[in-house]
Amino acid sequence: MSTPQLSTPVPNPVLHQSPQPPLPRQDRPVPSHSIKIQVRDLTCFYGSTAAVKNISLTIPEHRVTALIGPSGCGKSTFLRSLNRMNEVVRNARSEGAIELNGVDVRSIELTQLRRRVGMVFQKANPFPKSIFDNVAYGLRLEGWRGQRLADAVEQSLQRAALWSEVKDSLHKSAFELSGGQQQRLSIARALALSPEVLLLDEPCSALDPITTSRIEELLHELKTTCTIAIVTHNMQQAARTSDFTGFFLMGKLIELNETRVIFANPRHKETEDYITGRFG
Ligand code: ADP
Repeated sequence: MSTPQLSTPVPNPVLHQSPQPPLPRQDRPVPSHSIKIQVRDLTCFYGSTAAVKNISLTIPEHRVTALIGPSGCGKSTFLRSLNRMNEVVRNARSEGAIELNGVDVRSIELTQLRRRVGMVFQKANPFPKSIFDNVAYGLRLEGWRGQRLADAVEQSLQRAALWSEVKDSLHKSAFELSGGQQQRLSIARALALSPEVLLLDEPCSALDPITTSRIEELLHELKTTCTIAIVTHNMQQAARTSDFTGFFLMGKLIELNETRVIFANPRHKETEDYITGRFG
């Protein structure tokens, strides 16, 4: 496939209240050279049960792609497949192809892949170490030391919008941070390795609205350097933060389109029912 899998907008009598203005140039489907991740016919099994069924889609570079859908529809399984995190799950196997910059992820050495495609989970998961050591962890493994390391830690904390809150307590335990700070620390730890892609699996589900909005602002800034895919239960969050939205249902991708098209003119009735709260 040479372009992102985008549906043609179809006016919807329920949601389409007024004519939509033409899409601004930056909202148009991105050209093929901007595809960061290409997924073809991905099916993921747990034992003999398929949790993700024959999904093909593209994730455009320097954009935020949100994955929405009811619980259990395969969003996390799909997301974890992108950096092969799902491989460690017992009884999990997959079929199909995932390419990062046109290269099959199975041919990329695992540590390299995880460095290039970072992940932030629903629940912040700091190591039992200091704030500084949490962010420095991956870089130390790569031999970073001294001022170079300290500068990189500071930069990552700055980018995760946490620096001003922790700069005087870098050597405190990460467990002393609030839940929202711990989640931004997880983001800083992922950013320290300069990932090309950041996968976020419901990163705000345990956070208060103020912290959530800080993380949403952060996503907006991060897409200048990263490609972002975010699983969220929160449709307002998808609408606020993403450029593209994919709707999953029972392991299938029902549709993927520009976010405002998905929310204003979904092509499929199932999408419309979900975003209008009729189920899920
Ligand atoms: P979502 O992220 O949309 O909530 P998941 O990807 O977590 O969906 O789950 C999709 C399906 O796969 C669900 O039916 C879930 O029960 C099943 N599943 C998820 N993880 C495992 C696992 N480790 N072992 C067996 N089944 C699993």
